[in-house]
Amino acid sequence: MSTSTARVVVVGAGILGVSTAAHLARAGASVDLVTEADVASGASGRSLSWLNSAGARSDAYHLLRTVGIDRWHTFAARHGHEQGLRDGLRFDGGLTWAAPGESFRARHAHELAIGYDSVWLAPEEIAAWTPGVDPAAVAAEGAVFNPGEGWVDLPLAAGVLLEGFRAAGGRLQTGTGRAHPVVEGGRVTGVTTDSGATFAADAVVLATGPWVPRDLADLGLTVPDDSPVSLLLRTKPVEVALRAVLNTPRVAVRPAPGGVLVLDSAWSEEEVVIHREGDYEVKDSTLEGLLAEASAVLAGHPELALDGYGVGRKPIPGDGEPVAGAVDGVEGLHVLFTHSGATLGLVLGEFTAREVLTGQPNPLLAAFRPGRFGARA
Ligand SMILES: Cc1cc2nc3c(=O)[nH]c(=O)nc-3n(C[C@H](O)[C@H](O)[C@H](O)COP(=O)(O)OP(=O)(O)OC[C@H]3O[C@@H](n4cnc5c(N)ncnc54)[C@H](O)[C@@H]3O)c2cc1C
Repeated sequence: MSTSTARVVVVGAGILGVSTAAHLARAGASVDLVTEADVASGASGRSLSWLNSAGARSDAYHLLRTVGIDRWHTFAARHGHEQGLRDGLRFDGGLTWAAPGESFRARHAHELAIGYDSVWLAPEEIAAWTPGVDPAAVAAEGAVFNPGEGWVDLPLAAGVLLEGFRAAGGRLQTGTGRAHPVVEGGRVTGVTTDSGATFAADAVVLATGPWVPRDLADLGLTVPDDSPVSLLLRTKPVEVALRAVLNTPRVAVRPAPGGVLVLDSAWSEEEVVIHREGDYEVKDSTLEGLLAEASAVLAGHPELALDGYGVGRKPIPGDGEPVAGAVDGVEGLHVLFTHSGATLGLVLGEFTAREVLTGQPNPLLAAFRPGRFGARA
């Protein structure tokens, strides 16, 4: 496909769609980014967004995540001063410790073995590396500190990417209702939207977050889905010294712009009541419980107050690994569906844009093709 004449529609303006669209437009393609509601109104607007490759996973996934973190470093160097990103993209490390009865010694040993920056800290050593944590809350054996990790405010980062997208001639279409790829004679020819618009295209990138399996099923294609309903709580601004992302047995805590903290956990996610798809109930006791758990791990046990929360599906493919690349049997259709989409947001956008425009498969994505599931329903 000639880059200067390529017409591409990207469906979904979460971090993956925005990043892909920005890379495509920068490369010279004619790009429409089409999204049913607003930019970052899905998972990207309610993400912990911890930039990491901590713990154990496949070699291919670990490599992709470390490259993903690398791209955020480049982004910070280029754009860190723009649109509040100075306080919205930070590399102040991640601290984690095990639940009672468990140990993270093996996890730390694994991280050392694969060259992932990992420091074992006794509770009383933590303050010298990272502030704001109550050492009494930490497991007696100690904690793992990963100094190279960080976090990003995805809506802020999407805003910076969209500025570049528009400057390169890209067109953003919000509030379109659902968009549907149109397939004729085995190839994609564009998309239609529930609002009645149509966009012709040589290629379509489906980046609809947890809705990718549904959107592919409409085309008779199967990608297994394990996306749970998740909850992210936002506190009112509070004075704390915390800088690292904390992953503790009962709560994850990260700083956010404006002195805010964001919190999530596995147990609070499970307490969300699902009346039906899109109709969720979050109990006051769950929100109060999360605030109490966060206060308990922070130095000085500050009083934390609820500002708001986001609830909705968190994209997770059925086998836990990313789904990225061309869809077998539908020429011109590409897909992006992944957990850890904050860590991978830039790199998957960059690689996908290049694959769409050159047709050259990127070897770093070889393990993640949608075809591994057998594709047709
Ligand atoms: C609570 C929580 C914690 C997380 N923690 C981390 C973490 O610590 N580290 C990490 O790396 N990742 C984390 N993630 C995952 C990461 O946030 C996601 O993988 C990433 O945001 C997904 O981005 P996306 O662009 O694929 O999807 P989304 O952000 O969901 O964007 C998809 C967009 O497409 C739109 N859309 C859907 N269907 C259609 C359609 N048919 N037509 C048009 N538009 C459509 C939606 O409205 C939405 O705006 C977390 C996610 C959650 C929810």
